[in-house]
Amino acid sequence: MRKVAEGVYRVPARAANTYLVEAPRGLVLVDSGLPGSENGILKAIAKLGKKPSDLKLVLLTHRHLDHIGSAAALKKRTGAKLASHPFEKPYAAGTLVIQAPGAWSLYGRIVRKLTTLGYWTLKLFRIIKFQTAHVDLAADEESVLEEVGLDGSVVWTPGHTKGSVTLFLNQSSVAIVGDLLRARRGRLVEPLLMESIPQTLASVKRVLDLGPQIICPGHGKPLPASTVRIKKRAAKPVILAKKKEEEEDLEELASGLF
Ligand SMILES: [Zn+2]
Ligand SMILES: [Zn+2]
Repeated sequence: MRKVAEGVYRVPARAANTYLVEAPRGLVLVDSGLPGSENGILKAIAKLGKKPSDLKLVLLTHRHLDHIGSAAALKKRTGAKLASHPFEKPYAAGTLVIQAPGAWSLYGRIVRKLTTLGYWTLKLFRIIKFQTAHVDLAADEESVLEEVGLDGSVVWTPGHTKGSVTLFLNQSSVAIVGDLLRARRGRLVEPLLMESIPQTLASVKRVLDLGPQIICPGHGKPLPASTVRIKKRAAKPVILAKKKEEEEDLEELASGLF
């Protein structure tokens, strides 16, 4: 667990970051990691001197398994409410299965691999025993944060997925963005997969317009907002790139960074 700012902690979980935020009336967790991440998260809560029941809210930034995977287990063990954008709710409930995105910033070889992503997602769900979870609250309602007294806002930042959200904290000027941006070589860059490239670019702008000091991505370390670099190639759906870079991206894809 690493302190990001006053009252904000990065808790790396299985395959993705989660973030614990101290609020006046309890703790808020952003994202939950792959299934099996709950013990590590509960340990981090204990390190802050809190009880499992102090966790009041788990905010899911988006539908991907590396972010919703331990939501059901955490809900059971802490009694926390789950919140997500309404678009993501059926994916957490398991009634909709993630499809390969319709747009991408990737290269030819990865695109070919995407055609099998739907199948692999299904297989993954079975292999790692994903427990479906009922999302209690719509993250686009202001009351979600009011209940815990958190001074901030949940901002709709679609692009990586249609219902992706960002948690912006007013006091610390921290933006927790899920997979809207990812850390790479000391910079914050566009995600590997995007359902919509124009929406991703607009959402990045929306986040930057809030004036964050620090941006916390779903993968990699939190970085200053000044490190955001969106490559021009992200604006084009068909891309040719250098072989080396392509290999690296394939590696990242293979390591489960959806
Ligand atoms: Zn992710
Ligand atoms: Zn994702």
